[in-house]
Order: sequence, then C-alpha cells, then structure tokens
Amino acid sequence: MQIKSRFLIAGAIVALIALTTMQGYLTFNTYDLRKKEFAVESRTKIGSIVNQPHIDSLSWDFRNAFARKIPDYKNGLISKEELLQVLSDSAQLKNTEFKQYFNEAAKQVGLNENVLYKKFASSIVLIDSKGHPEVILDKRANTPIFLLGENFITETGLQINGWNWTFDQPVVYENGDTESIVIKFSSSIYMKIIDWDKIIFKQLLLLFFIAFLLFVFTITLVAYSIRNLLKLKRISEIKTDFINNITHELKTPLATLSIATKTLTNKFAKDNTDISQESIETINRQNKRLQNLIDQVVDTSLGYNDIELNLEPVVISEFINELCDDFSLTVPNHVQFLRSIDPTKVTSEIDTFYLGTAIINILNNAVKFDGTVLKVTYNLIDDKHTIAISDNGIGISKKNKKLIFDKFYRVSEKNTHNYKGLGLGLYYCSQIIKAHHGILDVESKVNEGSTFYIKIPIEHGKENSISR
Ligand code: ADP
Repeated sequence: MQIKSRFLIAGAIVALIALTTMQGYLTFNTYDLRKKEFAVESRTKIGSIVNQPHIDSLSWDFRNAFARKIPDYKNGLISKEELLQVLSDSAQLKNTEFKQYFNEAAKQVGLNENVLYKKFASSIVLIDSKGHPEVILDKRANTPIFLLGENFITETGLQINGWNWTFDQPVVYENGDTESIVIKFSSSIYMKIIDWDKIIFKQLLLLFFIAFLLFVFTITLVAYSIRNLLKLKRISEIKTDFINNITHELKTPLATLSIATKTLTNKFAKDNTDISQESIETINRQNKRLQNLIDQVVDTSLGYNDIELNLEPVVISEFINELCDDFSLTVPNHVQFLRSIDPTKVTSEIDTFYLGTAIINILNNAVKFDGTVLKVTYNLIDDKHTIAISDNGIGISKKNKKLIFDKFYRVSEKNTHNYKGLGLGLYYCSQIIKAHHGILDVESKVNEGSTFYIKIPIEHGKENSISR
C-alpha cells in the first residue's frame, strides 16, 4: 500500500510536470505563431495602403523634384550633396501629408497604431548616354535618405520590401548638347512594431487566462487527490492499528475466561466450591473488563453533537478540587501529584460526569506516558475557566501534536509501542470539551513533558443539555 501510493503520487507529480511543460511549450508556440501572423498581417495591410494611387503620386512628386535638379548637377551648378538634399527636402515637404493619409488609411484597414512605417532611398545611380554609371547614393556606404513615414532606426524594424524605379531625365548642357540620363532609384520600406509583446499578449489574453485556469484547476485536482490518498492511507493505517490494539486488549480476558470456564466444567472443580467460587469471580471480573472495553469503544467514539450534557451549576474550583482528591487516591506511589487551584467561587453550568471523565482521562494519560510529576492548575483567564494539566512524561512531537485529538490516532513511534490504548481517549475528551463550547489544546516537548489546556467559557450555550 505504502509503495503503491508513493508510486502513484510520484507518477501524478511527474505527469503534472510533463503536462505543464507541454502546456508551456504549446503556449509559447502559439505566441510565436501569432507574432509571425501579426507581422504578415501588418505587412499586407501596409502594402494595401502604400499601393494606393495617392501615395504613389506623392512619391512621384519628390522623385520628379529630384530629377528636375539633375541638369543643374550635370552642369556643375549644384554639388552631389545639394542634389541629395533636394530629394530629402522635397520628401519631407510631402511627409506630413503622407502621414495624415497613411494614418487614416491605417484605421480603415485596421492596422494597429503601434505599427510604424519608414521609407528611404537606398541607392541612386545616374547612367549617361554612353552607358557610364555614376553613383549618387551608394547602397554600401549605408547613408540612406529618409523619405516618408517615421524615421526610426532601421535595424530595429522589419523589411517589408524594396522598390526599383528607372526613369529618364533629359539634360541640356551649357554648350547646347543634350543627353538623356537614366536614373536608377532604389528605395526600401521598413516597418517597426512598438511594444510588440504587449500587443500579442493582449490578443492572446483569453487563451493565457484559460490556460492558467486549467493549470490551477489541474494542480488543485492533483493536490486534492494526493491529500485524499494520504488521508485514506492514514485512516487505513489507523484502523489497522486500532484492530491490532483491540485484538490485543481482548486476548487476555478471553484467554482467562476460557481457562475459568474449563476449570468450572472440570469434574474436580464441580465438587470444590472454593475453586468454583474463584472461577466465577474470575469470569465476572473478565466479563466486566470486556464490558468496559466495549463501553469505551462505544462511548468514546461519540461526536460532540451526540453527547447529551446534563448541565448543572457548579463552582468549578470546588469541582476540580474534588476531582483531584479522588484522583490522588489512585496515583501510583512513584508519582508526585501537585495542584494549584484558584479558590474563586465562579459558577458555571457543566456536566460533572462528562467533564470529570475528560479530566481524569488526561490525568491517566499523564501517568501512562511516564509522568512522575503531575500538576493541575486552575485559573480564570479572560472569562474562561482554564485548567492546565502538566506532566514530565515522554512528550509529544510537533508533528503528532496536531493529530493526537483525531479518532483512533496513536503515536506509533517505535519507542512508544509499549503503551497500551485504543487512541480514543483524547478524541473523546476533545468532543466533551467542544460540547461545553470550550477548547482542548496541548503544549509539549519530546522527552520534557506535556501540558494539556482545557478552556471553557464561563457562560456557554445549552444546546447539548437535557433537562432532568
Ligand atoms: P491512547 O492513550 O489510548 O493511545 P489517546 O487518545 O488518549 O489514546 O492519546 C493519543 C496519543 O496521544 C497517545 O497514543 C499518546 O501517544 C499521546 N499522548 C496522550 N497524552 C500524552 C501525554 N500526557 N504524554 C505523551 N503523549 C501523550
């Protein structure tokens, strides 16, 4: 059972880790895929905007302005830098109009506002009539001329595409010669997505949320199942222990009864009244012992709701004193029994039989678990009758402190298996005290001793009481 449940728990945890890893991987993949999809969507939308004739005409405007200045350049009236400046200036003149138009069109096609657009001229080459090229803007020099959109750092964006135009420009030289110059103009388009992660995250929020809920649900389910499994395992162990204990407790009286009845049926005993009398007494004693054992199991398994209290007003200090008087008569010689009872005369309604049983039970345990110095203290603290029963016995470990009030629970450490019992006493005590609306608590240290605290409010309800 132990190996099996350990195996099951380990299996469940491994499966959970595998499932979580897989879910994480799938979620990451979905995220990555959505990112790519978003880039493709944005690219297509930008394409649909910049292909519109109006945008095309804007591009032609600054390209024509540039082309018209080529004759001046060829005649030496302006430098190459000035020629390129013309291109840059005329593009900037158009950029405000472009951005306005772009933003409106972007709204129409549903392009996310975080997607930026940039167009720049990457290379310009002039080819004269003899076919000699002259590089005006060198692609390799990496000094592109910004044309339209937002001037973000190109490396932070994604390339959408590149355009090549070829067009002719007639040039008239000062000496009257004319020539047709072919302009090879290349430009590139880039886009940049700002807060790209946030956009995708927002889009996948519902998916993440559902994945998270499923994750929490699975973890809870596994944790709950493991807890249940452990609980069942503990209950099964406790029950086995209980059966072993009660069998052990029953063995002695049954064996004695068997011997006594054999003696009685013996022919020799029939004629001997002394032997018969002795056997009958043994049978009675063992019968009583068996009865006590059964009563203990039946009574002490009652829950606090089943306990019907017969409440009567009692001066608690006097009640404790009387109880201690009675108990002191049964204390073994090697045990020192001390008490410190506050003589206050506060009266509360209690069931003397049940509360007495609970206190005696705790005192008996103190002796049973090797207490040699026992002390009962009674005080009124915060409107509560507080009875502390301390001993210097074997003590209880922190782990077991939480469990000893459970039904059938017995500490099963190797060194404690010699102490007889059914594990019902403290459960019964806690139920009696609960029926009095009080609490039973323990403070303990292994090998140093334990103190059990009973705290009962001065006034408490009477739901559990019966009228006599
Ligand atoms: P039982 O005494 O029949 O085993 P109880 O319910 O009275 O059952 O006690 C439960 C367990 O609590 C005991 O098995 C014992 O390990 C522990 N226990 C109770 N009282 C003491 C005590 N005074 N000192 C040390 N251990 C105690």
